[in-house]
Amino acid sequence: MDEVDLANERAELLNSAALNAALHKKTERPSTGVCCDCGEDIEAGRLQANPYAQDCADCAAEAEIERLRLQRTGGRR
Ligand SMILES: [Zn+2]
Repeated sequence: MDEVDLANERAELLNSAALNAALHKKTERPSTGVCCDCGEDIEAGRLQANPYAQDCADCAAEAEIERLRLQRTGGRR
C-alpha cells in the first residue's frame, strides 16, 4: 500500500515539474534572431551562448551599462 502511495506521489511531483518546465519555457521564448530593441540581426555567437537572447550585443551592453548606472546612482542617495 505504502509503496503505491509513494509511487503516486512521485508521479505527481514529476508531472508538476514537467508542467513548471513547460510554463517556464513559454515565458522564455527562444530568440527570433532579431534584436527586439534595434531590429538588427543578433550575432550568431551570441545566440549560441544564449539561445534566448532577445537583443543584440550592443543593446545588451547598453542596457547593462544603464542598469549599473541606475544601481550606482540609486545606491548613492
Ligand atoms: Zn540591438
